[in-house]
Amino acid sequence: MSESKDFLRSIVEEDLKSGKYREIVTRFPPEPNGFPHIGHAKSIAINFGIARDYHGHCNLRMDDTNPTTEDTKYVEALKDAVDWLGFDWGERVYFTSDYFPKLYDYAVKLIKMGKAYVDSLNEEEMRAHRGTVTEAGKRSIFAERSVEENLDLFERMKNGEFKDGSHVLRAKIDMSAANMKMRDPLLYRIRHAHHFRAGDTWSIYPMYDFAHCLSDYIEGISHSLCTLEFENNRDIYDWVLDTLDLEPPRPYQYEFARLGINYTVMSKRKLLELVESGQVSGWDDPRLPTIAGYKRRGYTPESILTFCDQIGIAKANSMVDVAQLEFCIRDDLNTKVPRVMCVLDPLKITIENYEGSEILDASYYPEDVPKEGTRKLPFSKEIYIERDDFNENPPKGYFRLTPEQPVRLKHGYIISCKEVIKDAQGEIVEIKVHYHPESKSGSDSSGIKVKSAIHWVSAAEAKRVEVRLYDRLFKEETPEGLEDVNPDSLKIIKNALIEPSVITQKPDERFQFERQGYFYADPVDYSEETPVFNKIVGLKDSWGKKKKKRSETAKPQAKKVQIDGEVAAMSAQEQAHFDRYTAELELNPEVANTLARDAQLSTFYDEALRANHSPVTIANIVSNEVARELKENQVAALQFSAAQIAQLAEMIDDETISSKIAKRVFEEMVISGEDPKQIVESKGLIQISDPVKIAPIIDEVIAKNPDNVAKFLAGNTKLLGFFVGQVLKNTGGKANPKVVNELVAKKLNEHIPEPERC
Ligand code: ATP
Ligand code: MG
Repeated sequence: MSESKDFLRSIVEEDLKSGKYREIVTRFPPEPNGFPHIGHAKSIAINFGIARDYHGHCNLRMDDTNPTTEDTKYVEALKDAVDWLGFDWGERVYFTSDYFPKLYDYAVKLIKMGKAYVDSLNEEEMRAHRGTVTEAGKRSIFAERSVEENLDLFERMKNGEFKDGSHVLRAKIDMSAANMKMRDPLLYRIRHAHHFRAGDTWSIYPMYDFAHCLSDYIEGISHSLCTLEFENNRDIYDWVLDTLDLEPPRPYQYEFARLGINYTVMSKRKLLELVESGQVSGWDDPRLPTIAGYKRRGYTPESILTFCDQIGIAKANSMVDVAQLEFCIRDDLNTKVPRVMCVLDPLKITIENYEGSEILDASYYPEDVPKEGTRKLPFSKEIYIERDDFNENPPKGYFRLTPEQPVRLKHGYIISCKEVIKDAQGEIVEIKVHYHPESKSGSDSSGIKVKSAIHWVSAAEAKRVEVRLYDRLFKEETPEGLEDVNPDSLKIIKNALIEPSVITQKPDERFQFERQGYFYADPVDYSEETPVFNKIVGLKDSWGKKKKKRSETAKPQAKKVQIDGEVAAMSAQEQAHFDRYTAELELNPEVANTLARDAQLSTFYDEALRANHSPVTIANIVSNEVARELKENQVAALQFSAAQIAQLAEMIDDETISSKIAKRVFEEMVISGEDPKQIVESKGLIQISDPVKIAPIIDEVIAKNPDNVAKFLAGNTKLLGFFVGQVLKNTGGKANPKVVNELVAKKLNEHIPEPERC
């Protein structure tokens, strides 16, 4: 758990202190209609995490009120996910369907109190009666029914006397409530359907708004933690529990932000679409953001929990960069797993001056990793190296084997190229080399200088393996659906060659394949005959690099040349920076990594920090904006100073300007070197945070885009970003995005008339 307390834990602590509850009881309440995804992992980590931290309990509750979409296989997948993440529900696994009799009794009680009625309007009439955001609704004539008539009809609904849709049970609340959800919400509907647990006992099923709060109460939940889209449902939650006048204590609902990650989809409906359309191999396809997918791919539960911890718990929805999740798994495996050699695209090498064979002692871990272990590595006259580790016409900065340049075989000898053999098409099929007997790794007295070490395998002992390389499942950052699937998200290599030590390991092990990434024996398809390895993640963020390359085509070559596929260990000083940045200044590890690994950046950062102690804001500017400038210029050539960056950060922190505007100001500073304060004043860039000024602009945008409003109301919540974007655009980027975000969400949510789900 992170050191700083989130808002939910603050509430829990206060409630314990005031004696509101004797024990903290939370619940994770999934609907068993799909496999859980990483968003659920966030909810699991919050609910089970809080229960653990405050010595309470967390119930696992299957919220199975919708008979047509639910299934036992999903129940099993949910249990499996919670268990894999390391949480234990003990005996406390419950099903809402077990409460159907009790819920029915509560409904009868409401009817008897005159607080619920059977309505017989059809769907269309009901919609017409509901009114709009600006107009009050009208109550149905059926609301006049007597208690007796309601009791009789409700019982007959239960007994299956009526057709689906002919009647519903509604709460009698307020048809002119500002919160549209409070306009006599539905409590029960008729559904002649077989339920996977309750069988055919019931012809009526409770709606979410009725079942959820009461299930919480029945189980003695103290804090009912859910995602933001239920914010407007909270009023119903409270109304039901308060109206029924239950014996205290009762639970209260609190909302937190839903997790969204780019380049993927995160709704069970869309995931089901991918599975059913055959775009992926199943719910556990390693490209899916499902827990089963991550598990099969080779992610560790620790890395997922670290990720959930890092993203924190906030009250505003936001999109998290998938690179952050990838960072977490990379960071977890970096010091944990053995490093071995596997050649994905083999090129034959014959060492002409070597006879016989020998066994090399090779360490599994580099020196800076505090783990030990070695394996025996066979070496002989014929070996394979990676095809692109040899280049006949090397570009500048190519450090591997060339006709002129020797290279070291990792854990072995230095070799030099003697002859390149090609086939009739001119394709290189073999390289003949000489090795240098005095150059053996660990006792090198050859005096030969090389610029890099490459991985290899001995031809006679290497094993043929299948390697599955995964890329992002979607090519769009915010994919809509199937049409955005990345056609190259899976690449299968049938004939990779791996060193023999790996094949004799027990299954369920992870490895770093030197210079390639982290890999995991596929738990489903791996066999001794065909060993299959899944790529978990690369050694560094190659996607970010690809994107950057595209956008920086016009810029000159970077000064430092990196060997592809290798990540250098940090020096002691870099490590010290990194540790201080993450531990003391609480920077996100990715940002800390960028700063720590570059001496110019860390010096600049530390200097700015001395002028204004705002570690996170300054780190963001330095690791993005300043870093970009420093790629082409030395510090001395920059127009702006660290003190000015400190000043810029101060204006972001006190909300004088938004971080978007800050980017514009920065562009100015790069050119003119003027003080950011002056730039903001002379260009009139001060942020607008007053809701009174922002509200009319939002109204205008909403009025101009009725189609998107309708789509949003139909559940396409991603359009929130569209509306926010339009408002920001209309203010020239000057509106405070936080205020805009909140106001837009509020205004749009006021339009949502239908319950989210039953
Ligand atoms: P989806 O919309 O993806 O189908 P859901 O909200 O219908 O998911 P449930 O099975 O009802 O899924 O969710 C169980 C719990 O997990 C709920 O408390 C819900 O708020 C939470 N949850 C679902 N998705 C996310 C997410 N992306 N981030 C955080 N919590 C989530
Ligand atoms: Mg849902």
